[in-house]
Amino acid sequence: KIVDPHAKSGGLKTRFSDVAGLHEAKVEIREFVDYLKRPTAYTTLGAKLPKGALLLGPPGCGKTLLAKAVATESSAPFIAVNGTEFIEVIGGLGAARMRDLFKEAKSRSPCIIYIDEIDAIGRKRSGGEGGGGVGGGGGSGEEEQTLNQLLVEMDGMDSAQGVIVIASTNRADVLDKALLRRGRFDRHVTIDPPTALERKEIFELYLRQIKLDKNPEVYSQRLALMTPGFSGADIHNVVNEAAIRAATTEKKIVTVDELDWALQRILAGPEKRSRTLS
Ligand code: ATP
Repeated sequence: KIVDPHAKSGGLKTRFSDVAGLHEAKVEIREFVDYLKRPTAYTTLGAKLPKGALLLGPPGCGKTLLAKAVATESSAPFIAVNGTEFIEVIGGLGAARMRDLFKEAKSRSPCIIYIDEIDAIGRKRSGGEGGGGVGGGGGSGEEEQTLNQLLVEMDGMDSAQGVIVIASTNRADVLDKALLRRGRFDRHVTIDPPTALERKEIFELYLRQIKLDKNPEVYSQRLALMTPGFSGADIHNVVNEAAIRAATTEKKIVTVDELDWALQRILAGPEKRSRTLS
């Protein structure tokens, strides 16, 4: 899926201001905006720009949102793929797809490739990689061939070429070490589940976007304290459910009643998923 911010319609809109909390992660990932905007400022000084960043963390906590914000803020097209797409194809097509992906990105550079769930293709290879080259795994599985191709593509890229690969996973422990070497995904950004303060910020972000009877700040603190273990996606869901509830009950404005109703509804879901409460 390609989103081109230069396109007249359907362009990207996610900015860093749309990502609540995640203050440290934002600082770390923001560097990539500058690499994409002013690569020669670095390369003329002899610096080699990072080609990849790995976002580590549980689902629904803003990894995709952050990657999109990098693309928007650097006016670069954003090509999003999922690791599972490469292994669902038959007969060596995963590697060919990977080649095409990089070809496409280079033709649109500066450009961001976002690979969600990279663990689907980036698991430790059976044969091990040995010294440091690529392709030493020796396996013939779709997964290994795709991973080898990804390594070949990243190694073949000139760091000033303006293609940055951002990948995400919540299973860093299963990743092949070759992926984490210098010149590949050597920048790691941890995206933890939101703290109480971050949940408050996320609630405020979304409460500001609905018709609410009071200032978002009136509700956000209490809601944040009632939602340990919630992801940003869960929080967005609570606010949206509250607005939907108000509409279905033909109310003109969202009040504490709808927020509590939505909270109970979402709580019933995540509790079944046996969340770890923080
Ligand atoms: P996955 O691993 O499932 O792809 P993710 O970490 O990439 O998860 P996102 O797709 O970035 O999660 O987040 C899902 C949705 O949750 C976002 O579209 C947004 O509505 C909301 N959300 C999550 N985290 C935040 C945040 N920090 N600030 C604002 N909204 C957030």
